[in-house]
Amino acid sequence: MAGVVMERVEFESSPEEDVAVVRAFGEMGLCEGVQRGLFAYGWEKPSAVQQRFVAAALKGRDLIAQAQSGTGKSSALALAAVSRACRCLTTTAAITATSTSRDPTVLALCPTRELAAQLHRACLALSEHTEVRCLCATGGSPLMDDVRKLDYGHQVVVGTPGRVIDLIRRNAFRTRSVTTFMLDEADEMLNQGFKEQIYDVYRYLPPATQVIIMSATLPHDILEMTGKFMTDPLRILVKRDELTLEDLKQFFVAVEREEWKFDTLCDLYDTLTITQAVIFCNTKRKVDWLTEKMREANFTVNSMHGDMPQKERDTIMREFRSGQSRVLITTDLWARGIDVQQVSLVINYDLPNNRELYIHRIGRSGRFGRKGVAINFVKSDDIRILRDIEQYYSTQIDEMPMNVADLV
Ligand code: ADP
Repeated sequence: MAGVVMERVEFESSPEEDVAVVRAFGEMGLCEGVQRGLFAYGWEKPSAVQQRFVAAALKGRDLIAQAQSGTGKSSALALAAVSRACRCLTTTAAITATSTSRDPTVLALCPTRELAAQLHRACLALSEHTEVRCLCATGGSPLMDDVRKLDYGHQVVVGTPGRVIDLIRRNAFRTRSVTTFMLDEADEMLNQGFKEQIYDVYRYLPPATQVIIMSATLPHDILEMTGKFMTDPLRILVKRDELTLEDLKQFFVAVEREEWKFDTLCDLYDTLTITQAVIFCNTKRKVDWLTEKMREANFTVNSMHGDMPQKERDTIMREFRSGQSRVLITTDLWARGIDVQQVSLVINYDLPNNRELYIHRIGRSGRFGRKGVAINFVKSDDIRILRDIEQYYSTQIDEMPMNVADLV
């Protein structure tokens, strides 16, 4: 069956004897308040990546970690972030003559505002029973609010690069106490669009800052770049057989021509609404167009892309997360890391423009080992691309069966 999606292995894990596997949350060195936060979440057992990552992160080592989406990577970052900050607060060592306990000690950067908000939410939940305060610093909200909050004191800052660099330059974000710098979705963060901003931020951090990078995909050129700002990092690669995505099934529908995609989607609408579904298009214009066309045909859909005002994006996310809306049409803005557990179906209305995006998109379904289905709409001249994806990830994408609704 076309179940398991194979991540292409781009790097070697550190030798097994270097990567300690800690099988219980209680043995990771998490601070007590964080353990209480975990209890509220109801998580019983750490995932494979958490078993390897969290304890190592708390020891202060530079880390590179790669694991498939939906396997608890961002949660691992949140655990480490809050626990590190918690420890800095309780040890006076971090508070010198020039710094105060109000200064941030952990900085985590994400490529989109939605991802930063999500990581921030996890940090908030985990820090509830600690003294640690967590700030979400992203564009699209009043800068002065962040300035005020930083002045009041926040130990964990989760943000997007533009806003964070702005706060640093204004000296609202004092970086002197930062001990840990995290990049979620690291390959995207170190891509052309962001790279300079990341280096900018990095230059302001104390020389001994621990650097942690995390991603589902880490192409070779990005890994090479890490040599510039990481010191002897521990490499954690969660192998295929330790992943929990066995239930993710991938299919294609041969639509031949672009014009036929729309009717195919309408035919699938009942299946889309069984739980929740995300439909990916390659451009913002196409998202707008498809949304309007679906609405004209009396289907209830929502849509989101980067040209919409932040307030609207927030509302759409809130409604989708709460299950009030069930079908979301969007661009690759949504492809990375967004976690809505009820999403069990992903439709690629357009095939993605590159192989990495494919993994990120279909990873929106089947979160943390739940059932998930991905359906690709394939025009005649797309078949080549689909076969390429299949081969690259050594996976199998079958023709969609009649009973697809039973699989969602
Ligand atoms: P990733 O970053 O790898 O895509 P996330 O950290 O977003 O994965 O986690 C995916 C989902 O699984 C989230 O809803 C999260 O709350 C949940 N989760 C994470 N760790 C655990 C755990 N140890 N036990 C149960 N659920 C977990």
